[in-house]
Amino acid sequence: MLLNKDKLTRLHDDIRQCVECPLHRNRRHAVPGEGDPHASILFIGEAPGKTEDEQGRPFVGPAGKFLDRLLKDNDLTREAVFLTSSVKCRPPNNRAPHPRELETCKRLWLDRQLALIDPVIVVLLGKIPITQVLNEPSNLKESHGQMHERNGRWYQLQYHPAAGRRFPDIGLSMKRDMAKLKRFLETPS
Ligand code: URA
Repeated sequence: MLLNKDKLTRLHDDIRQCVECPLHRNRRHAVPGEGDPHASILFIGEAPGKTEDEQGRPFVGPAGKFLDRLLKDNDLTREAVFLTSSVKCRPPNNRAPHPRELETCKRLWLDRQLALIDPVIVVLLGKIPITQVLNEPSNLKESHGQMHERNGRWYQLQYHPAAGRRFPDIGLSMKRDMAKLKRFLETPS
């Protein structure tokens, strides 16, 4: 019997070989994600950027530094959570991923990551993962911080850290939403 950790390692090896959508053509490295294979919190961003594509690791560019700080402010580390993105390969010129790319990457990879890691809560960072996972549009001005339950799993809607880094008011909202997430996990159900 393979351990969860080994199943995830195999899945990530498969992601690195994936040629199922056009995004593989321009990538240097696919970015499956990283963190605790049994994490209670799983963060889904939008797509790898330049630095992530170079290194094959999630959230290692400027938005990632901002996310690291938000985690640290809540006594969390990237090793204690799991970080991934809606698509695993960088779109050319950082364009938004196309609906077919999002659908393919979710069906083949993200759904399997969620099944293996089985987090208590999934944090959807920005409109792209919110639409991809919950299948509904979002107005983050009104909905950021909200918790939604779907099929026995919790989802929190948050802004993307790239926006939090650029705009101080959004950064402040993200700080509050991250504190709300921490409180949610600490509150016995
Ligand atoms: N933005 C994302 O959504 N994911 C990354 O890995 C980096 C930036």
